[in-house]
Amino acid sequence: MDFELPEELRMLKQTVRSFVDKEIIPIEMTAMDRHDLKPEVRAALEKKAKELGLWMLDVPTEYGGQGLSMLGLVVVWEEIARTVGLPPRGPLIFGPDPRPILFMLNEKQKEKYLYPVLRGEKKATFCQTEPDAGGDPGSMRTTAVRQGDHYILNGYKRFISHVDIADFLQVVCATDRSKGSRGGLSVLLVDKDTPGVKITRSTYKMMGDLTFEIAFDDVKVPVENLIGEEGAGMARAQKWLTMGRLYQACRGLGVAQRSLELAVKYSKQRVTFGRPVADRQAIQFMLADIYMKHEMCQNFVYRTAWRSDQDTLERHEPFMCKVYGTELGFEAADRCLQIHGGLGLTVEMPTQKMWRDARGFMITEGPVEIMRSVIARHVFRAYE
Ligand SMILES: Cc1cc2nc3c(=O)[nH]c(=O)nc-3n(C[C@H](O)[C@H](O)[C@H](O)COP(=O)(O)OP(=O)(O)OC[C@H]3O[C@@H](n4cnc5c(N)ncnc54)[C@H](O)[C@@H]3O)c2cc1C
Repeated sequence: MDFELPEELRMLKQTVRSFVDKEIIPIEMTAMDRHDLKPEVRAALEKKAKELGLWMLDVPTEYGGQGLSMLGLVVVWEEIARTVGLPPRGPLIFGPDPRPILFMLNEKQKEKYLYPVLRGEKKATFCQTEPDAGGDPGSMRTTAVRQGDHYILNGYKRFISHVDIADFLQVVCATDRSKGSRGGLSVLLVDKDTPGVKITRSTYKMMGDLTFEIAFDDVKVPVENLIGEEGAGMARAQKWLTMGRLYQACRGLGVAQRSLELAVKYSKQRVTFGRPVADRQAIQFMLADIYMKHEMCQNFVYRTAWRSDQDTLERHEPFMCKVYGTELGFEAADRCLQIHGGLGLTVEMPTQKMWRDARGFMITEGPVEIMRSVIARHVFRAYE
């Protein structure tokens, strides 16, 4: 057993860390214009990232990317998550970011959707959540009914990110409602400007993210825009969601790491009752707990990513990463804010932004309670 990261990933981790420390952390509280990077900041960061070879890391080599392993991605994600200065999908600054589902398209679909994304000409977004179907996609009400060589799409989605910048939507819909998520869901590629697609509303979340609501009203979608086979939508979406769960866990790890950095520094500087607060056992124990949990979580996330690369992953493992990593992130951000006292609540400080961001990690891409249900099912099977 070798618990060390391979040399090339240690170097990659160091490169990303120094990029974040030098280029992003100094401007992190001013880099964003509400939900996205200011255009001039994005241009400068992209240029620097390219120079450092941090470009299209997760795109397979046959498509011109670097084909980084899941372990490699995890290492990059946790380093990026140390800063609050990037939009939620921070790695987007490292080049076009097609989601894995787009690599499953047939050649004709790739020509129209994947390659333009890789060239930076088009952007996509993923539409699954609905008012009555969030963590439980099986109860989805958006339907696609086949009529000749088209599907007629009707329904309503909410909490969808990046709709403002997207050119097309990857819409999860019910092609057979009686089967729910067990073979009843499919994914359609829908151009945003198709008649009947209507963005009805947008809302800001407390983390600064902007999400949208979209109505589909008798939208005619060519059958050739179906991804894979009818009814295989959930299986395809799950593959992406597995990656998303590890991503959310890494965001928690990054926040925990940064919380330790900030809290240790401040607690040594801040003197109360004649002594630095770092001398107080109450503060030391908070930091010791976060440190222990961070070490354990990081090891488990690395192992899970490694097992994903070996194709030996069990379904519950990324769920465990998501629960532990995101709860750790929030606990760490909370302790860090507490140690900073009133200063921690100041809007110019990263502490309050980390706290708000980390609270969101426990809900987006699946609430932790639903993750625990999946883990519990595994426990009951494993110990029967
Ligand atoms: C910033 C942001 C961006 C998003 N972007 C997208 C996007 O681009 N595309 C997209 O499709 N979706 C997106 N979402 C939606 C997100 O994935 C959902 O909010 C999430 O899956 C939870 O669904 P819900 O909000 O409907 O909660 P629900 O499923 O209604 O759950 C509400 C609460 O009930 C509890 N609960 C639910 N089920 C169970 C259970 N089985 N056992 C115990 N407790 C349970 C949990 O505490 C949960 O938090 C985004 C959300 C946010 C906040």
